[in-house]
Amino acid sequence: MSNELKDKVAVITGSSRGIGAAIALKLAKEGANIVLNYHSDSSKKYVDELIEKIEEYNQEVIAVQADVSKLDEAKKLIDKALNKFSKIDILVNNAGINSDNLLLRMSEDEWDKVMNVNLKGVFNCTKAAIKSMMKNRQGKIINLTSVVGIRGNAGQANYSASKAGVIGFTKSIARELAGRNITANAVAPGFITTDMTDDIPEKSKKELKDEIPLSRLGNGEDVAELVSFLASDRSDYITGQVINVDGGMAM
Ligand code: NAP
Repeated sequence: MSNELKDKVAVITGSSRGIGAAIALKLAKEGANIVLNYHSDSSKKYVDELIEKIEEYNQEVIAVQADVSKLDEAKKLIDKALNKFSKIDILVNNAGINSDNLLLRMSEDEWDKVMNVNLKGVFNCTKAAIKSMMKNRQGKIINLTSVVGIRGNAGQANYSASKAGVIGFTKSIARELAGRNITANAVAPGFITTDMTDDIPEKSKKELKDEIPLSRLGNGEDVAELVSFLASDRSDYITGQVINVDGGMAM
């Protein structure tokens, strides 16, 4: 446990479970105060457990239920963070969903809901958070994309397009906000064991694993390591980048 993020405030969207929860724990372990976010009522129990763990690290934490795909709810999330902590140093746009189907069968609703959470959600939360970051002339924005946003994936046209969109968005805001000492980077996980990948059949998981040079699936902690580096002062001269955490899957 280090104190690298001492006195920093981090908002992590979609942090009830999976990668987001691992990021929240890691940033708290490094000394940051944490704003958790979740969407479903059923995730409240995971959030309560997480709050207990974060408090064991002696960090302050609040949890806000908000749907990031709705601008007013994203604003509510950021306002609650600012009311409690008066600043936001780190924004991790992690909330994401998938709704896979071949394009021929993909409905408009499957397209819209994935784009609304994965891409519009990033726009909503970033737009709400940057005013305070700009005023303070510092900030770290870290957006979760995916290897499939880089190389595409059959059955995931909606998800891949949303994640490719996150990359374009990240590079654009990196250019817009650099003058205010705010960096923006994208993290591209490969195949990480979470609820999102849970329903992939065992046979397909084995095939996927065979594609990974490091011969294992990733876990939330693998991704959280990179996010904590990008959230720290050690990454001050890095912006507009897409960094893979994928065991060498895409290179
Ligand atoms: P996960 O286990 O399914 O967790 C998703 C999280 O997002 C949950 O906390 C969920 O909250 C939240 N969320 C969903 N819709 C939301 C909304 N409208 N508003 C606010 N929060 C919402 O997913 P994960 O695997 O950890 O993925 C995290 C991120 O990494 C996603 O952006 C994903 O696309 C990306 N990623 C994952 C992988 C992978 O292999 N797992 C690979 C590449 C990229 P509730 O609990 O309340 O539903």
